[in-house]
Amino acid sequence: MSDKIYLDYAATTFIRPEVITEINPYLSEFYANPSSLYFDGRQNKIAINRARKNVAELIKCNKNEVFFTSGGSESNNWALKGIAFANKSKGKKIVTSAIEHHSILTTCDFLSKNGFEIVYLPVNSQGRVDLNFLENCVSKDTLVVSINYANNEIGTIQPMKEIAEICKKNNVYFHTDAVQAVGHIDIDVKNIGIDLLSMSSHKIYGPKGCGALFIRDGVILDNLIHGGKQESFRRAGTENVTGIVGFGKAALLSNIELQTEKIRLYELKEYFLDKLLNENPNIILNNPDKFNTLPNNINISIPGIDSHEMLLKLENRNIYVSAGSACTAGNITGSHVLSAIGLAEDLAKSAIRISLGLLTTKNELDYVVEVIGQIINESI
Ligand SMILES: *Cc1c(COP(=O)(O)O)cnc(C)c1O
Repeated sequence: MSDKIYLDYAATTFIRPEVITEINPYLSEFYANPSSLYFDGRQNKIAINRARKNVAELIKCNKNEVFFTSGGSESNNWALKGIAFANKSKGKKIVTSAIEHHSILTTCDFLSKNGFEIVYLPVNSQGRVDLNFLENCVSKDTLVVSINYANNEIGTIQPMKEIAEICKKNNVYFHTDAVQAVGHIDIDVKNIGIDLLSMSSHKIYGPKGCGALFIRDGVILDNLIHGGKQESFRRAGTENVTGIVGFGKAALLSNIELQTEKIRLYELKEYFLDKLLNENPNIILNNPDKFNTLPNNINISIPGIDSHEMLLKLENRNIYVSAGSACTAGNITGSHVLSAIGLAEDLAKSAIRISLGLLTTKNELDYVVEVIGQIINESI
């Protein structure tokens, strides 16, 4: 790799070399359609099912409960629209939170234009959803509760078990967008009581344009993509074999390395924050909760320096980070997440997200601390 310091793993990751090796035969020799009955076709079908098993093991569900999609966005669209349309005789209420990813929020906007009623849970200053509010607003006519497993901007891990219990008590489906959590922290969908869970390949060192939706056996939802009989008649279209094979390998590797990588990143994060905040006491950590946050996510505000200006100055020193969230880059309205946690507007405007990953080292982070210190000094 180059001497570029990539600290935007929450936006996307590079594809691991082992994953590329795994994909290669399906880009050349094994190009047959997985639905074809002859040998090469069957080989493709077998490869897809091997990937399905690896993805299932990462979240501890059954293999037949994993359905491949084009990514996290499609999985989120499918979960919400699929449940809403299939169960509308039960009611019209959908409960979500104020800090969801845009693929949830804009799907909810679409559903609200189509007669569904959306309730947005408020969050506290660390981004945790208000469980009392949830308890009070969930009712018999609620179709689904959809809450981010871990937030992509500030890393907040939600109280999944508590949310699942409230859903179960009220006989309401529980969906979670777990794109940032999968492969980074331990997930056990059966133990928690999750009904549907969205995943994406390119956030865990797999190829872009591939993801999956876990649908618990027995959950009733409509198809989103209609057509052929692929994915057990539930998601049509000739399978993205290279994407799926790569996703499967990436899932296998992150499962094997999960515990060690999780601890390594928590330690690196703590090391970096201790050093950075000691040397620059005016920097604000936007989610100071040590225990309920992702190991790789850091969101800070550097008062007086606009985040876009900061980004360019860091880029000039070969450091790549994100302003709030990649999805809001270039969006002048600012981050809905930082506003929901009550961060003052001037601090939100100077927020940057630093997200760590496989190649991140202590040396890199030492350099980043040094550079941020220099930039702050230059600006006074
Ligand atoms: C990246 C991301 C998505 C979208 O996934 P894609 O595969 O890029 O469509 C959805 N939710 C969260 C929390 C994400 O971080």
